[in-house]
This record gives sequence, structure tokens and C-alpha cells, in this order.
Amino acid sequence: MNLNADLLQKKFGKSLIIKEDLSKYSWFNLGGPADIFFRPENKDQLIKFLSEIREDNRKVYILGAGSNTLIRDSGVKGVVIKLGSKFSDIKLLEKDTIEVGAAILDRKVSDFAKNNDISSMEFLSCIPGSIGGAIIMNSGCYGSDISKILLSIKVIDDEGNEKEIKNDKIKFYYRGTDLPKNYIILSAILKGTVSSKQLIEKKQEELIQRKKESQPSQIKTGGSTFKNNHEKKAWMLIKESGCDKFYVGDAKISEKHCNFFVNDGKAKASDIEKLINKVKKEVQSRTGVNLELEIKIIGDEK
Ligand SMILES: Cc1cc2nc3c(=O)[nH]c(=O)nc-3n(C[C@H](O)[C@H](O)[C@H](O)COP(=O)(O)OP(=O)(O)OC[C@H]3O[C@@H](n4cnc5c(N)ncnc54)[C@H](O)[C@@H]3O)c2cc1C
Repeated sequence: MNLNADLLQKKFGKSLIIKEDLSKYSWFNLGGPADIFFRPENKDQLIKFLSEIREDNRKVYILGAGSNTLIRDSGVKGVVIKLGSKFSDIKLLEKDTIEVGAAILDRKVSDFAKNNDISSMEFLSCIPGSIGGAIIMNSGCYGSDISKILLSIKVIDDEGNEKEIKNDKIKFYYRGTDLPKNYIILSAILKGTVSSKQLIEKKQEELIQRKKESQPSQIKTGGSTFKNNHEKKAWMLIKESGCDKFYVGDAKISEKHCNFFVNDGKAKASDIEKLINKVKKEVQSRTGVNLELEIKIIGDEK
């Protein structure tokens, strides 16, 4: 069966857009259109949509805040689901525990925790993504990551089944998890430690300052391009291999942090991808290290 996009459009109204330009949903500000872009208003609408597309074998991608994703120029010949504002709730469950919707931004969670005297979530103020993305990526910085504060998640699979998964049933590793690709995270329960607003604020400010000093801001990027899961950090390997001045068109490498690849104007996603491959090849031949991508690349090659 082939998806009838017009029929879906009628059924889901303004929640569904045909041929939506994806570049505005990615921090790189790059990417072609999605055949079908769906922004569910609530869980029931999401379940209904999943059941409508189940028979079709098109790929389904979930997009969070797009801060770790490079979308190819030809776009996504399939379905992109982005959870909307109805999935951004946040509430206090206990004095050190909060429940958050998967689409809420990490920075907002950090601020909510601070305002409720909950520590251990300060690092989230430095990560520009959503909670759903942070869980899939096991995002973190300065010694913390989401696995350390996560109690459980609620997910829905492509069959529309909902389940709750506790932290100890998820395998977290450096910038990733073993969660199946067909799971959509709906919400999460996070647990911190009780502290004081003043101390939390101070820590948040320190971390934000450290970030400002070591990483570029106000640029079109996906953050760290390669994972730091080798003896030497990826930026060191890139620098030592003499790749830090490499570029392809307007796809450049940040002068401040050479693991940050940047759309410095009119780059295409293909330029960023070529630059990634060029650096990977050079680092491999110079150091023998096979750099592993941290950013996700989605979309069709052509
Ligand atoms: C300037 C900058 C600084 C950064 N600094 C850091 C840092 O310090 N530490 C760090 O770890 N990362 C960092 N990143 C990378 C990025 O912010 C994180 O990986 C972030 O957690 C990604 O979240 P997102 O919502 O943007 O995910 P996206 O890029 O939208 O998606 C990432 C992955 O998560 C999946 N996903 C997203 N939401 C859901 C959901 N609800 N259900 C299922 N799957 C989902 C997507 O399918 C995709 O596979 C940085 C990025 C930038 C641009």
C-alpha cells in the first residue's frame, strides 16, 4: 500500500504538512523537504497516525530539536514526526523528582529544576536539544549525562503500543542507548538531589561559562561531529592530523573547537557530509583511528 498523502492531510489537518522544508528544524539550517511531516497534537492523534501509516513501508524518522541531526539536501522520502508543544509538559512529582514531556528543551528542564531546588540537572542548561533527543543520545557534559538522572521513560512503538521502561532496562553507552529505533519517547521521569536555588544557579552559570570558553556559539552546527570514545578526544585527533583547516565550500570547521563542523553561509548538507568523510579518511590514515559519527545523518542520498 502507498501512503495517500492528500488523504492523510484531510484526516490530520494542520498537524500534517506535505513536502515540508526541514531546514528550519535543524541547527545546521540545512535539509530538503519531508514527504510527510507530522506534528501530533496529542498522544491519541499520534497513535491514530501510526496506525494509518503502519501498512506502508516508508521510513519514519523522529526529530527532536534537530541539534544533533544533519538532514540531507534531497530531504526525507518518508515520514518525519516531530512532537509538538503538547509533549512539553513539566511537573513536580516529588521534592527531587520531575516528569517531563519528551519535546521539552533541556534548558527549560534545568531551569525548572533550579526553581524547585533540585540539583544534578545543571548540565542540561548547556545542551541545546530536547529531552527525547538527550535520552536517545545519552547526552551530557562535564561528567554528567542523562542516564544518571533518568528513572524511567514512557514510549510508544510503531504498532501504537505504549510501555514504561525503567532505567535499569536500558543500556546506556557513550552518546547512545540500545533503545529500539521504532520507539518514540513520549515522556520521562528524572530524579535529582535536593539543594538550594542559589547553589544550583551558581553551578549552572559556571558550566555555561565553561562552555562559552571552549565551544563556539551562534553558529549553524550539530555540536560534536564525532564521538569522543577513543583514548584521545576527537578534536585532538582532527588537529593532530592537520584537518582543522579543511573545508568544502561553505562547510567549515570551527576555529574554536575543531570537532564542531559549521554551515558558514551557503553550505549544502552534501558539503558538510563531504567534509565529514574527508576528515574521517585523513584521521584514519594519519592515526589509524576510525572516528565514529556522533551526529545523525538522515534523508536520502539522492
Ligand atoms: C551548539 C551545540 C552544543 C552541543 N553540546 C552538547 C553537549 O555538551 N553534550 C551532548 O551530549 N550533546 C551536545 N550537543 C548535541 C545535541 O544537542 C544533543 O545530542 C541533544 O541531546 C540532541 O537532542 P535533539 O532534541 O536536538 O535531538 P535531534 O537532533 O532532533 O535527534 C537526535 C536523535 O534523537 C532521536 N530522538 C529525538 N527525540 C526523540 C523522541 N522523542 N523519541 C525517540 N527518538 C528521538 C532522533 O531520532 C535522533 O536519532 C550539542 C549540539 C549543539 C548544536
